Amino acid sequence: MQLKIQGVVQGVGFRPFVYNLAQKCNLHGWVKNETDGVMIEVEGSSENLENFYHQIKNSRPKLSKIDNIDKKYVSLRNYKNFTINPSQFNNKRTAIVPPDAAVCPHCIEEIIFPDDRHYLYPFTNCTFCGPRFTIIRDIPYDRDKTTMGSFIPCKACEEEYNLASDRRFHAQPVACPQCGPNVEIIDRQGDKVEESNNWLEFFWINIEAGNIFAIKGIGGYHLACKMDQDVIGNLRKRKKRPFKPFALMCRDLEAVKKYCQISKHEADLLSLTAAPVVLLTVKDQSVIPVAVNPYLNTLGVILPYSPLHYLLLQGPFDVMVMTSANPTDLPILKDNLEALECLKNIADYFIVHNRDIYQRCDDSVVRSACNRVQYHRRSRGFVPDPVRLGFSAEKAVIGMGGEMKNTFCIIKDSMAYLSQHLGEMETVESYNFFMDSLAHFIKLHDLQPRVVGYDLHPDYHISEIAQKIPAEKKYTVQHHHAHFASCLADNGCQDRALGAILDGTGYGLDEAIWGFEIISGDFLSFEREYYQTYTSLPGGEFGIKNPWAMALSYLYQSCGNAGLQVGRDILGPLYDKEITILIKELIKQTSSVPTSSCGRLFDSVAALLGICYENTYEGQAAIELSEMLIKEDLFAVPEPYPYHIYDNQINFYPVFPAIVKDLKSNCSKIKIARKFHDTVIMAVVESIKRSSLKTGLKTVALSGGAWHNDYLLSRTEHLLQKEQLKVLLPQNVPPGDGGLSLGQAAVAYHKWKSEANF
Ligand code: ZN
Ligand code: ZN
Ligand code: FE
Repeated sequence: MQLKIQGVVQGVGFRPFVYNLAQKCNLHGWVKNETDGVMIEVEGSSENLENFYHQIKNSRPKLSKIDNIDKKYVSLRNYKNFTINPSQFNNKRTAIVPPDAAVCPHCIEEIIFPDDRHYLYPFTNCTFCGPRFTIIRDIPYDRDKTTMGSFIPCKACEEEYNLASDRRFHAQPVACPQCGPNVEIIDRQGDKVEESNNWLEFFWINIEAGNIFAIKGIGGYHLACKMDQDVIGNLRKRKKRPFKPFALMCRDLEAVKKYCQISKHEADLLSLTAAPVVLLTVKDQSVIPVAVNPYLNTLGVILPYSPLHYLLLQGPFDVMVMTSANPTDLPILKDNLEALECLKNIADYFIVHNRDIYQRCDDSVVRSACNRVQYHRRSRGFVPDPVRLGFSAEKAVIGMGGEMKNTFCIIKDSMAYLSQHLGEMETVESYNFFMDSLAHFIKLHDLQPRVVGYDLHPDYHISEIAQKIPAEKKYTVQHHHAHFASCLADNGCQDRALGAILDGTGYGLDEAIWGFEIISGDFLSFEREYYQTYTSLPGGEFGIKNPWAMALSYLYQSCGNAGLQVGRDILGPLYDKEITILIKELIKQTSSVPTSSCGRLFDSVAALLGICYENTYEGQAAIELSEMLIKEDLFAVPEPYPYHIYDNQINFYPVFPAIVKDLKSNCSKIKIARKFHDTVIMAVVESIKRSSLKTGLKTVALSGGAWHNDYLLSRTEHLLQKEQLKVLLPQNVPPGDGGLSLGQAAVAYHKWKSEANF
């Protein structure tokens, strides 16, 4: 019997598993890695063969994933035993490189057991765990094609590697203190610290003393410090990051429970082999220094995922601040020299090592939304595992992604390969990161894209990069059409559907900035059924950074001069001079762009309530506003403010005088925030109902960055379902711009296909 197995089957202990299984089932033959999967040939009794086949499918290693098994009966060759044969190349390359996996319990046992040769060794790994995507240079996945290639295994490691029954059988990155990489501590001048031999003690003493450490991890550098108000304040000052929350790394689930509320589903997410940052609600804010997550009730928490992290947290504290070390808007740092150069004014000490990181890869960020996983960032631990599609593309198509939170996505056959988080696309460094990752994906999957889908925005750097990709055909894709298509593709939906796309910024077909769009359509085309009545976005980028300015714009649009007076009263004490200039601009309509953005609507209300006047990080005002509702009852009767739906428009202007009135009568801000959310929810539900009646469509895709808002999402979904509508949510990609590339690729493919007249 011959089996050809495709999926995530290399670098996950699959061949040892097959070897041991063949012994158990008393079968002879061989197994080998090929460039597009694993090939097995086995001989024995038909009962044993059946049993073998059954167990391949049902008791495969935890990190593996089988997409396809081809079973064939071939003539007998009378093998005398079962062997693992050398890996073999062929021209087709579809073997899937596995994502990085968190350190497993077996390896942890070894690093804490004093008699084990891996005792306290921070690079311990086995076939169940360890770095993969970040260290692989090429496939097939063998040691010499990883950044471990330069380390020659010692005798003991070699033996484990060659022993078919061992956990480390053919584990490519195996290492021990005798033969593997090692840790060093260096100071800001780049000099090795003498105490490097006792690096753990040194770390604990100096963290306790309030020092900031840069730590080289799996996909790049982190900055770490003590969970202490003053120390974090110092880190914020040095990093020039006033408010954006920092993640915490906790020793274990017990430690997480001390600081955060945690459900069974959230515990499961924390314990995934992908080890993402999980957004949790703080248990008692008085225990968490304000500087960790200013003005928020939620917090990103991650468990130690490399043996190095694990060891760092075995000291006197069970929690520390752990944040990606990237200079503002630049990719995460991965090389020792670049880290020293960029971080010498931020970190006091550097924990470095000599295992190179080949691909940068930020931590992933997820949240449990009604017991379903919602991605905020899909990166380390999930990438490059593909998303399975409901259609099959005969040509490789690339979606270039957005200008912010960029990822690209290559679709081919029924797979969508999304890149790691590439971040903001404005710099040479991010351009290089994009091109480097793209070249890597093309090599790994043998996927030279022939068709390109990219954002309609004429001034985006990413649109410029799209011009540089050689291809037969290129299509622009409207931003919200891409958000819509991303959700359809992620759900395997091929039919026409409705979409409620609530988002920050997207270039519209009429050159306005869109972001509150009720659409109907499919991959090929879409129609705008409803959109939020336009309001002036003062000064473009200025209006995005300054919610107070947007609030003034809404007040003017909704109440004219009376609105401007209210704006002066509320915002004047803070922005006296700026307001006078802005009012002139608003009246003359100079330097402003019309916008229907949902993000700007939330910004305005946040500013009006005095919650947030300036966005120091993307989405800050909207997030701070939404966090007021964390403990609100999801099933209370909605109490919306007035709004109008007419022609194709949803007009929220009446909301503003109503909020001002509530503010004057000392209504609580939480109550106002809830009434505002209810207004948006009712408007979405009503416009969807009307669109459904008009088009006969019964499926609604909810996509766009605003759906990260838990209250908004849960209530809208519930009310739409009550109307007998089927709701689709992004499942494997973020609803925000991190998932945009999937939609662009799906749209570009379908446009190309319809033109090619199949
Ligand atoms: Zn392990
Ligand atoms: Zn060794
Ligand atoms: Fe977007």
